Amino acid sequence: MYNAERHQLNRERENASHRKWYNANKEKRLTRIHEYQKEAAVHISVQKVEENRAAKIECLTHYGKGKLACVRCGYDKIDALSLDHINGGGHEQRKITGTGVNLYKWLKRRNYPEGYQTLCMCCQHIKKVQNHEQIGGETPQTYDYNSWQYRYNQTIREECLTYYGNGKCACVKCGYDNIDGLSVDHINGGGKQHQRERGTSSLMLWLRKNNFPEGYQTLCMNDQFIKRAENREHNSVKAPKYQEKQERSPAAT
Ligand SMILES: [Zn+2]
Ligand SMILES: [Zn+2]
Repeated sequence: MYNAERHQLNRERENASHRKWYNANKEKRLTRIHEYQKEAAVHISVQKVEENRAAKIECLTHYGKGKLACVRCGYDKIDALSLDHINGGGHEQRKITGTGVNLYKWLKRRNYPEGYQTLCMCCQHIKKVQNHEQIGGETPQTYDYNSWQYRYNQTIREECLTYYGNGKCACVKCGYDNIDGLSVDHINGGGKQHQRERGTSSLMLWLRKNNFPEGYQTLCMNDQFIKRAENREHNSVKAPKYQEKQERSPAAT
C-alpha cells in the first residue's frame, strides 16, 4: 500500500471515529458550547463596563483639574460626578455627541478642549438654580427670584424637605443641607413614573396636599445618583443581558 492510500484510509477511519464520538457526545458538547458562549458574553459585558469606567475616570480627572472630584466642593464619589458645560449649551452638545461615555470619548478624541468642568450632582443642581433654570422641566424656563410664586414654591420645598429629612432640611444619609442641592426621594423607586404623572415642581405640592404620605425621604442629589447607580448595577451587571441574547439568537436554540 502506498503511503497516500494508507493516509487516506486512516483519515476515513479517524473521521468515522470522530463522527461516532461527536454523535455520542452531541448533547454534552452543545451544552459546553453554550456555557462557553454564556461566559464569553458576560466577560465582554464586564470588559465593556470596565472600559467605559476607565474613560469616565480619565475624562473627569482631566476636567477635575487633575483630581477625580468636583471642582466646586471636592466631592469625590464617581457615581455622582459628571461633566458640566461651563457656559451652558449642554442641550445642543448632547444632540451631537450623546451623553455619558460617548461624550467622554468624543472629548478625548479632541484632546479635551476647554469649556468643561467636573461637578458633583449637588453642584450641578445648585448651578441650575443659580442660573434660574427650572429643574426637571421639559423646556428650560427662568425663574424670577422675587416673584410671589417662586417664594411660595420655596416655602413649600423647605417644608417638604424638612418633613422628609426627619425634622431637618438636610439629606438623611450624609447631612448635606444646601436646600438647592436637595430633593425628595421615592424610597422604593417608582419616582420616574410619579414624576411623569405630576411634574417635579408639583411633587412637593402633591405631597403636602396628601399630608406627607410615607415612602419618601430627603436626599441630596449626590446620594440620589449613587442610589440610582446601585440599583442599575443590581439590575444589569449582576444579571447579565446574556439571557435576552440567547433567546433571540437561533444558534443557541
Ligand atoms: Zn460639588
Ligand atoms: Zn447626601
